[in-house]
Amino acid sequence: MPAKKAPAKRLGLDVYKRKRDFTKTPEPKAKRAKDRGPLRFVVQKHRATALHYDFRLEAGGTLRSWAVPKGPSLDPKQKRLAMEVEDHPLEYANFEGVIPEGEYGGGTVMIWDEGVWMPMELDVDPVKALKKGELRLVLDGKKLKGSWTLVNTGDRRWLLMKRKDEYASTEDITETQPRSVRTNRLLAEIARDEGGDVAKAATGDPVRRRGSAPSTRRSRPLKR
Ligand code: MN
Repeated sequence: MPAKKAPAKRLGLDVYKRKRDFTKTPEPKAKRAKDRGPLRFVVQKHRATALHYDFRLEAGGTLRSWAVPKGPSLDPKQKRLAMEVEDHPLEYANFEGVIPEGEYGGGTVMIWDEGVWMPMELDVDPVKALKKGELRLVLDGKKLKGSWTLVNTGDRRWLLMKRKDEYASTEDITETQPRSVRTNRLLAEIARDEGGDVAKAATGDPVRRRGSAPSTRRSRPLKR
């Protein structure tokens, strides 16, 4: 019998801790919490080396985390690659700001969506379902709602897919709803407010369409 391929080693909070210098970054320190009450989820839009969306689900006292390069899609036909990354502490769900350049994940972080979640089947233990490699879940966020599937396709590669329900849509929600659900800011505005690289952050914001761009001209004409 061929040897069964060993599953990829789980990346725990120890990995999160090892990657960061907490004397330099304002991100939360590594801390495990007990499961209690509704489980939280957060989607953080993160302009680091590349733009991506960090999808995080509370389970087992930490935020289980996936980096989704294209972000979530409301269209059930779109399977979005979600790379499993290290657990993050629950407190990370409150982090919006700037990770200093040169530090791990350096760049601007936005709380793009947040809310609570639960497994579709109430008798399912989230940690066990994730270990098995398939979790059917219901999200109740401000932007993302309804039923979704997260399925492992090998190593740390997962697919995040919307299931068909009344919240399914072909609307490109990352384009139509680009702002923070906490502060209504775009990435460039977060960078501007918190001492980040505004030009770099702006590349993660939607391109302004001709004709709809708010004027940046001063009311007083500039002297030549
Ligand atoms: Mn990230």
